[in-house]
Amino acid sequence: MTGLHERHLAVSPDWLALYYRDPLEITHGEGRHVWDADGRRYLDFFGGILTTMTAHALPEVTKAVTEQAGRIVHSSTLYLNRPMVELAERVAALSGIPDARVFFTTSGTEANDTALLLATTYRASSQILAMRNSYHGRSFSTVSVTGNRSWSPTGLSPLQTLYVHGGVRHRGPYAELSDARFTEACVADLEDLLGHTRSPAALIAEPVQGVGGFTAPPDGLYAAFREVLDRHGVLWISDEVQTGWGRTGDHFWGWQAHAENGPPDILTFAKGIGNGMSIGGVVARAEVMNCLDANSISTFGGSPVTMAAGLANLTYLLEHDLQGNARRVGGLLIERLREAGARSAGVREVRGRGLMIGVELVRPGTDEAHPDGAAAVLEAAREGGLLIGKGGGHDTSVLRIAPPLSLTTAEAEEGAAILADALRAAC
Ligand code: PMP
Repeated sequence: MTGLHERHLAVSPDWLALYYRDPLEITHGEGRHVWDADGRRYLDFFGGILTTMTAHALPEVTKAVTEQAGRIVHSSTLYLNRPMVELAERVAALSGIPDARVFFTTSGTEANDTALLLATTYRASSQILAMRNSYHGRSFSTVSVTGNRSWSPTGLSPLQTLYVHGGVRHRGPYAELSDARFTEACVADLEDLLGHTRSPAALIAEPVQGVGGFTAPPDGLYAAFREVLDRHGVLWISDEVQTGWGRTGDHFWGWQAHAENGPPDILTFAKGIGNGMSIGGVVARAEVMNCLDANSISTFGGSPVTMAAGLANLTYLLEHDLQGNARRVGGLLIERLREAGARSAGVREVRGRGLMIGVELVRPGTDEAHPDGAAAVLEAAREGGLLIGKGGGHDTSVLRIAPPLSLTTAEAEEGAAILADALRAAC
């Protein structure tokens, strides 16, 4: 590591923050573990949502990537490529969207940017509804639908965005309400908004807010929204960049917890599907996907190498029922973290579903967010050999736990014990 951090600082933008007082250089990984440059091994409870959905260095994916890289990497927009067509067919069938068309990009940002391009064009409106505390990417259009102010560095986008209540359940004006009353209040807020605006193109929403601290509305909220949106002709874009592919355990997609009134019009995905290779994508019903009247390509979207990775990864996760694993092992992990949380005055709530678990910290004895506490727990967990993430609203006070979906019961127990020690030491 010596000198690497200084060299990083010399060439990187100031707004690119690294985790840890002494930043970590990761050199390799296997399964649910990664190693640093000093040869120290860590249990990785965050990489699952960043990149490595299934497992580090999964042999099936490595083989598919190396074989394809040795064969051909070429444009997937001008010529046919078999892995892309095969992955698109499988994603279309899994999406739940009827008459689905798929377009591959290289990131979640580019996927959401494409979704916004489609929705605004289809509806001939540059007005968008987004959720408070949301995160949708780092491009000019996606920062402007990102309600989490700490991730939205400009307000100059030409999109006009209106923010809707509902993404954050545990704080804010409706925090004390029952599920049904919360849903009613948010629907009334949406009705009110739509009664007083021009006609928005779409609502974009994460079924479980990721960067915002793993917060979710009651099941069915987006179905109730859908009924209102339909009346106004507004499309529903479900950003599944963190919630897709079984992470929440109960469902393959996050929108399926809100399915009563049908699937979203547009679904976006990214992050883990390539198990580390950069794949993003958009699924939409054909009528919406085909609304553009000029060409639009992504040079590296759908590259044969990333598509081969996606196919191998998807096959593995379906064959090994990793969604079921997320439900079972995630259930155990939540239980253990709740036990640890109950012993700590600094833990306000342990929430989540499957392998997407948030631990919200407060200054002990208060209801105030505790970003220093979160940073201290991250350091202590690292000391104990565990990597976790953090997130939340304007103050980063939520520990984010999202291991690869192949996490074993023994690893869940081990990670929970390390985190319990870290909470004891740091809060
Ligand atoms: N949407 C959501 C919900 C995300 O969590 C992220 C990444 N954190 C993105 C979009 C943007 O994805 P990417 O970083 O691949 O551009």
